[in-house]
Amino acid sequence: MKGKLYLVATPIGNLDDITLRALKTLREVDLIAAEDTRHTLGLLNHFEISKPLISYYKQNEKVKSEILIKKLLEGKNIAVVSDAGTPGISDPGEEIVKIAIQNEIEIVPIPGACAFINALIASGLSSREFVFIGFLSAVKKEKKEKLEEIKYETKTLILYEAPHKLKGTLELIYEILGDRNIVLARELTKIHEEFIRDNVSNILNRIDEIKGEFVILIEGNSESKRDLELSELNGKTLEEHYEFYLNQGLDKKEIIKKIAKDRNTSKNEIYQYFLNK
Ligand code: SAM
Repeated sequence: MKGKLYLVATPIGNLDDITLRALKTLREVDLIAAEDTRHTLGLLNHFEISKPLISYYKQNEKVKSEILIKKLLEGKNIAVVSDAGTPGISDPGEEIVKIAIQNEIEIVPIPGACAFINALIASGLSSREFVFIGFLSAVKKEKKEKLEEIKYETKTLILYEAPHKLKGTLELIYEILGDRNIVLARELTKIHEEFIRDNVSNILNRIDEIKGEFVILIEGNSESKRDLELSELNGKTLEEHYEFYLNQGLDKKEIIKKIAKDRNTSKNEIYQYFLNK
């Protein structure tokens, strides 16, 4: 019989956040695949769990996944853990899940701490709809491109960032997204847990005081790209409006329909206007 692959969430700071099910799973599996074996050993020692560990991190994810799949096919139960939080969320995990599915291996998520979920629910920003971005690229050009891409997103945006990159990232957010309301969820579950709710410029003014690990949450754009486009189009003449859609390759009938919709008027009125021209 094939073994099962358990994806076990571990605490993001406060060890009391380990779940009973996580402990039970870590005690019962044959092997634990850990992002950093030394780090996980600390966790296991704390809970008096002794288990063979194998390293499984982003750079060796593919090769190690093959090794782990072989063991799973031999019937071994394996738990994947990351240094902190939920595996597969800006952490290794995705690769082995894909290969396990191909090999028809059962995958069992063991829920627990996840930094962005806890940051979001306490942020005060909309948690009804949100976009989790994770880490932005370390390459400045790509980082800028991503921010440009999400500029008009109306849903709450969630980023992870390394402490030493906070200032640079906030400066880019200010430059590209504007002086939005943001929340820095700092040191979650730890002694100095704090939620800093302010606009980007005010936070940048006191950036040197802000230390530790944090999640950045950004209020979504109040106007969608389409809203902005519409207010711009409706400020144009009808001829310019027509031209805009003509440049998109639409035919006359489609253009008239679109203009009428944009301007909340009848197709006939627009049609008559161009007929009388
Ligand atoms: N897999 C983890 C999870 O489920 O949240 C995320 C791991 S990712 C490599 C690490 C990033 O998560 C940090 O750079 C930070 O943005 C965020 N993070 C992790 N622990 C945190 C904490 N205690 N407080 C605030 N942010 C945290």
